[in-house]
Amino acid sequence: PTSSGDSLVVTDLRVEFSGFVAVGGVSFDAHPGEVRFLIGPNGAGKTTCIDAITGLSAATGSARLGEQELLGRPVHKIVRLGVGRTFQTASVFNELSVLQNLDIAAGRHRHWASLLRTRRGVDPSIMQALEETGLTDELATPAGILSHGQKQWLEIAMLLVQDARVLLLDEPVAGMSHDERTATGELLQRIAAKRIVLVVEHDMDFMRRFATRVTVLHQGKVLSHGSVAEVQADPKVQEVYLGT
Ligand code: ADP
Repeated sequence: PTSSGDSLVVTDLRVEFSGFVAVGGVSFDAHPGEVRFLIGPNGAGKTTCIDAITGLSAATGSARLGEQELLGRPVHKIVRLGVGRTFQTASVFNELSVLQNLDIAAGRHRHWASLLRTRRGVDPSIMQALEETGLTDELATPAGILSHGQKQWLEIAMLLVQDARVLLLDEPVAGMSHDERTATGELLQRIAAKRIVLVVEHDMDFMRRFATRVTVLHQGKVLSHGSVAEVQADPKVQEVYLGT
């Protein structure tokens, strides 16, 4: 599965907050071509794993993207290596248009193009990201009036124009309608063909429908990992997470 590009390999990841072990030696990997899920109950350490990989939390162990070690590097270097993330709350510029948000994400200052309300003059990579995320018709729309789902897709489009090789998505379908979830899952499947997609998720139904492989965290440790079917059949998972 590694043939189409570098993999993300996390080994013995450990994060402590003043002695409290939030992530206690977690290992998993993610490859281009799969939609990789990290699930687990609240407080399991999922977001902390992503924070560590993106340089926001100090961690020990290893997180390699291909040959590159990510841990210990500053955030901007990790971004430059092609690692992008979204947060649970979409962080877009509400007062700017979709296109202006993408221009900023691309690091371009082509405001003359952003001010136009047509596709003329729009950078091809931005046009492609708009098409990929279904936002082409919204390019002149202020981000603040997008639907909740569209804001999440704009965040993903921003990562695409940054040419992120790794997309770490923190609960991307939280608060979405069923149709928006389906559209998001299909979008992630398309994106994952060429990039690494790791989804931190609560929503079991979304995980069942779109995950290729799953790692289940519980109290900062890997409880189980495997295919959706394997994880769902694991009595340990049923006990702590699937519950009923
Ligand atoms: P999840 O994303 O699986 O819900 P988190 O990674 O957010 O879990 O949190 C894991 C544990 O670490 C929780 O017990 C949380 O309270 C704790 N934690 C997270 N961030 C901090 C922090 N900055 N300081 C102290 N404890 C934290």
